[in-house]
Amino acid sequence: MKLGLFGGTFDPIHLGHLRCAEEVCEIFHLDRIIFIPSARQPLKTEQDITRYVHRAKMVQLAIKDNPNFSISDLEQRRGGTSYSIDTVNYFLATSPETLELNFIVGQDAFQDIHKWKDWKELLKRCHFIVMTRPGYDAEDLSAVLTKDISKDYHYDHVSDGFIGPAETSIYFRRLTFLEISSTDIRTRLAKGQSVRYLVPEIVHHYISAKKLYSSQSFTGN
Ligand code: ATP
Repeated sequence: MKLGLFGGTFDPIHLGHLRCAEEVCEIFHLDRIIFIPSARQPLKTEQDITRYVHRAKMVQLAIKDNPNFSISDLEQRRGGTSYSIDTVNYFLATSPETLELNFIVGQDAFQDIHKWKDWKELLKRCHFIVMTRPGYDAEDLSAVLTKDISKDYHYDHVSDGFIGPAETSIYFRRLTFLEISSTDIRTRLAKGQSVRYLVPEIVHHYISAKKLYSSQSFTGN
């Protein structure tokens, strides 16, 4: 069983997230990608985050027609700050030993991995698939990880990945990275502009129906 874990704030989920997840699923022959909306993102404390119930609902609507995609409310159920190490540990503890766990992350988020809780341990527990884009591809581990960590990795031509001391890998893959961000979507909506074709139509309807991201938006967790 090859599983991809795709964590994010998804405030809201957009076509950039979905297209990249689709490509990762195909390239790595994953059985499933699980979208995991964070309940409380430790690195986004300065931003008002839309209520979990709305962010999760939008993910659910966006992925409902894709049999390879599913959603987990694990971080909401666990409560407190959402740390990836806790999420990965949960999947490792509750799944069969044959499970291959791949953490999917954009290059911008991976650049900050040294700020994540127990990040060195996290890199040992699962594979990382880093989605890169032109002009942003520091496909050199020492540019991202500290020297003491990156020196323990070696490049493997067969898998086109960097294998670490715990036999977990870091893969960089250049994907069809659509220049869409949730920040931009929120900004457009706050100005009363259209976000059609940036999010799935069904998400667009949900945003309109719930009046999300307008001046009277629902915030808090
Ligand atoms: P924000 O603009 O609010 O920071 P975001 O668009 O970056 O949000 P997140 O929910 O923070 O979305 O991202 C979840 C994950 O998706 C992160 O790993 C991030 O790097 C990745 N990601 C963000 N934008 C894209 C995109 N256009 N294509 C693919 N992956 C993306």
